[in-house]
Amino acid sequence: MLTNLIFPTRDSQQSHRMRRWVMASSASAMVVVLFLAAYLLGLLALPAFLTASSLVLGCVMLFYAVFRSGLNLRFRDPSLTLAQILASTLVILYVLSQSEEGHGILSLIYMVSFLFGVFRLSTRELLGITAFVALSYGLIIGVQWHADLVAAPHAFNRKVLNWIVLTSVLTFFSVMGGYISKLRKEVAESKTKLEKALLRIEYMAARDELTDLVNRRSLVDFLKQQKSRADRFGSAFTTLMVDIDFFKRVNDTHGHQAGDVVLQGFAKAASASLRATDVLGRYGGEEFMAILDQTPLDRSAIVAQRLCSLARKLNFDELATGLRISISIGAAEYRRPEEWQATVERADQALYRAKRGGRDRFELDNSTDDCVVRGA
Ligand code: GH3
Ligand code: MG
Ligand code: MG
Repeated sequence: MLTNLIFPTRDSQQSHRMRRWVMASSASAMVVVLFLAAYLLGLLALPAFLTASSLVLGCVMLFYAVFRSGLNLRFRDPSLTLAQILASTLVILYVLSQSEEGHGILSLIYMVSFLFGVFRLSTRELLGITAFVALSYGLIIGVQWHADLVAAPHAFNRKVLNWIVLTSVLTFFSVMGGYISKLRKEVAESKTKLEKALLRIEYMAARDELTDLVNRRSLVDFLKQQKSRADRFGSAFTTLMVDIDFFKRVNDTHGHQAGDVVLQGFAKAASASLRATDVLGRYGGEEFMAILDQTPLDRSAIVAQRLCSLARKLNFDELATGLRISISIGAAEYRRPEEWQATVERADQALYRAKRGGRDRFELDNSTDDCVVRGA
């Protein structure tokens, strides 16, 4: 909610980056409190504390501006992880250089910024940061406190030990962090693959392989959906049961393969002739079902007639010269509050009458006031 307010974006990846920015800013606030503690305990001078705090605040605001403006998208890593870690490293280095007594314990703060890189950066990048920290920290010890070497060798040794421990721990973190990053990347990749596979499975589960129309399972889902809409809003829908006439003959005469091509050809032509809001699916074998949205029975006659004449005109000469098909259709309108099976049953009965009446025609459900309509 708060993040939405500070970062109004619809890009889910950008909002994810911005959530990370909020996390980094909270960590920065904690670091400022640690600097304050160092100041209050007399281990950091006031000007150094004020400079360090302003630097932290400046960095936080700068990165906010970059993320908010979308400038980060121009970089190879739009999360700017490396840049954020380097910025914090520089601030911490500054504080270490300013606090002779506290620098040992303050160097622990590196871990906070380092942790942000552990989940995103490679071992090489993490080792690069470690080398940068080791070098600059070593430089501070060498240059700033070289006088210790003579005046207080014990204190100098303690600083060297600090350096050794910090460098070793960061190196260890780099190797482990790189490994974690790699694992994380692999998990993200397999998640993407799984999501794609799931979409494909969902598509396959809803489709008929041969015709690429929706299959019987999906048709039933559409029928249930239409029923709920009709029950709630009183809208009308009509179901057409479509059956190719004498299809067995096509198979017997021209082969199963040719039969398949005929099914595909009819499916393609029929679905192209329907409205985008209608659904055409393969109910099974050479039977198809059309669910006509917002269409009462009388208006479905126009569609049924169109389908009949479309089937008649289909040309399968490339399979066998003169090969033509015809279809029979039974239509029934949904009657509230019957089950969807009842509508299908009435459409089936109408189809049966169309077959008995000579095929290549449609019949409307005659258990309504409408009389039998001779079609096509
Ligand atoms: P009617 O006019 O009474 O509908 O006669 P018909 O021959 O079309 O009906 P019948 O139910 O006797 O035969 C349907 C045929 O459809 C039988 C079956 O081999 C064929 N069929 C079912 N599914 C497929 C398919 O996927 N591919 C092919 N090529 N044929 C199929
Ligand atoms: Mg048939
Ligand atoms: Mg049949």
